[in-house]
Amino acid sequence: MTICEFKYDSPKYQCKEQAIPGSRLCIFHDEDYYKNNPQVVFDKLKEQIHKSITDKKHLLIIGYYLPNIVIIDNFTFPVYFIQVKFCGNVDFSQSRFSEVTFMSCEFSKNAKFSEAEFQKASFSGSLLQDAVFDESKFTNKADFVGTKFNKVSFNRCTFHLSNFSGATFREASFTSTKFTARAEFNSSDFIGKATFHQTEFQEVSCENGVFYKVDFTNAHFNAKSEFIQTRFQEANFSDSNFHDEVPLMQLCIDIVSNRNSVSLEHLVTKLTLIIA
Ligand SMILES: [Zn+2]
Repeated sequence: MTICEFKYDSPKYQCKEQAIPGSRLCIFHDEDYYKNNPQVVFDKLKEQIHKSITDKKHLLIIGYYLPNIVIIDNFTFPVYFIQVKFCGNVDFSQSRFSEVTFMSCEFSKNAKFSEAEFQKASFSGSLLQDAVFDESKFTNKADFVGTKFNKVSFNRCTFHLSNFSGATFREASFTSTKFTARAEFNSSDFIGKATFHQTEFQEVSCENGVFYKVDFTNAHFNAKSEFIQTRFQEANFSDSNFHDEVPLMQLCIDIVSNRNSVSLEHLVTKLTLIIA
């Protein structure tokens, strides 16, 4: 019996699965095996998850190639997915996570996390092609630092502390979402259409951000909100509401392009608005 050769340095990890006959790697680490045997890979993954649940032990998954997966579970222990390639559709809708990390993972198709509940979640450095988090709750800390989203929907979500710094979004929607604590969007880049319609913010920090086409209509900014050195090409703040604790909002508009338009109709604010 040959053991899979897959190793990882930090955290230290050595795969203990059997290698596929004729290969040096197991069914998870061989980059082709899942293509012809998706059910075998999915069943074995479920087995590993259930073993963790029974043993109440953290789950560490590194470097797997995974097919379509549907998992609804209550993860009361930490779960780590590191450099995992989710090659098919992924559905974790209604799952509950006490602590989950998707570090440098790739979600190549649809990723569904609708109505999921996260205490601590990190998607740092991961790439998500088409993700839906609608009505999910992030009750403690949400870390999306450096996450690359092609298309993402965070409609009607609740966030506590959240950090989207350095994240890039091709198409994003945060309609009717509530941020109950500080939200950071420093150096985040919204390169396509972004919607924050009826979104409710507390403190917002957005320094050096870029918004190409953003809708903040009917948004509420309930505490200090800063958009310092942030560039808006097309922005609509109509009917949005900045509460009086806001000391400064600086809109830095790229005057090079004549396509810029910023609409501030019915904007409620007592702050000093500087358009540079
Ligand atoms: Zn392996």
